[in-house]
Amino acid sequence: MKIIMLGAPGAGKGTQAKMIAEKYGVPHVSTGDIFRANIKNGTQLGMEAKKYMDQGLLVPDELTVRILLDRVAQDDCKNGYVLDGFPRTIPQAQVLDEALTKLGDKIDYAIDVDVPDENIIRRMSGRRACLTCGATYHIEHIPPKKEGICDKCGSELVLRDDDKPETVKNRLAVYHEQTQPLIDFYEKKGVLRTVDGTLPMEEVFAAITGILG
Ligand code: AMP
Repeated sequence: MKIIMLGAPGAGKGTQAKMIAEKYGVPHVSTGDIFRANIKNGTQLGMEAKKYMDQGLLVPDELTVRILLDRVAQDDCKNGYVLDGFPRTIPQAQVLDEALTKLGDKIDYAIDVDVPDENIIRRMSGRRACLTCGATYHIEHIPPKKEGICDKCGSELVLRDDDKPETVKNRLAVYHEQTQPLIDFYEKKGVLRTVDGTLPMEEVFAAITGILG
């Protein structure tokens, strides 16, 4: 099963992607997580990506596509994956499409987690992330057991630079301009399904499992 998660930054698609990955036994592939891991390890790729991420801009397609195609070519992706945060532009979607077509394969579903901008801004300022293990929390909706500390690994939680209000506004503008056209792209392919992302997390997940079966 090959699934793409669509939706504005902060729509909750990462949380849903992790839940889907667990239930259906496929890897959760997040380009954002791959970039952040590279930043943390101080790689060349990480340094290049950080320049864009810190401003709420997209990392150039060429770099992003290379990373993604390498990742989905790995063995654990043989039976499918959930893509979270990729594609984010029409050219990225076209490259993925061409790569899959060459393999006689295709995307099964593109799930759009739909949330209005005003909800997004409110949500993102409450997000907290663990830069050590990648776990994410929300001070209201998914609080850690101990304030400011990751339940999973005990590291300190932070408000990611790219979740800060001024960056969020940039990211939303970038989303509307560059990523929203993907909704049409996948609708034309007949694989788009939309879920109401303003509902509680469990209800959003129930709607998704209703689609995936
Ligand atoms: P995310 O964790 O998916 O919200 O991604 C965080 C940041 O990483 C984004 O704001 C972009 O700067 C960068 N990024 C992640 N995925 C992509 C992508 N598919 N194309 C370009 N930039 C991306």
